[in-house]
Amino acid sequence: MTHDNAECGIRHRFQVQHRDHVPAARPQEMALLARWCGSFDAEGLAPVEGGASAGNLSFRTPAGFVITPTRSRLKSAIAWTDFVEVVRADRQEFRLHVLGAGTPSSDAFLHERIYALRTDAEAVFHGHDGLMLQWADALAQEFPLKLTRESRAFGTLADAAETAEELGSAAAIIRRGHGFVTVGRNMDAAGSLALALHRRAVELAAR
Ligand SMILES: [Zn+2]
Repeated sequence: MTHDNAECGIRHRFQVQHRDHVPAARPQEMALLARWCGSFDAEGLAPVEGGASAGNLSFRTPAGFVITPTRSRLKSAIAWTDFVEVVRADRQEFRLHVLGAGTPSSDAFLHERIYALRTDAEAVFHGHDGLMLQWADALAQEFPLKLTRESRAFGTLADAAETAEELGSAAAIIRRGHGFVTVGRNMDAAGSLALALHRRAVELAAR
């Protein structure tokens, strides 16, 4: 992993405008998001790097999307007030308008681009998995997923736009040298696909 690709130690690059200090309560969806944060943590899909989990998970809302905060530990006990709702993304100013006290994941603009291009996507999950990267080409033979053309600087507008474009209509994309993104019509679909890819990579590595 090149330095520019490493999430750990890199702070978000965008500006944040807090419109409220708490997100709107969405108890069922936020509980499900917390459960998937716990699953990613337990399955090693968001490994701790530099004291924070490398990964970010979101679901769509009428105004935008609710996403995990940057530099946080993903776990099932994460408080709903730790989540942040992004209600406006200003790409000209590179600024996000949010509800919540926290700062949205440094990959929030990638989530924003995917929701803009993929009207069918209700959830976007991103994680890191060394085995999935190692077995990316084999996984692409078995699953309807895309592979990014190359690794590139993480967290930039260009990275967000290009990765969302490369995802196209696929359910998943593996970002070479970095990690993976899955999308789904709901959180369970995005999460289940991530787990399936991970478990297949474990099987391939054990052969
Ligand atoms: Zn990442």
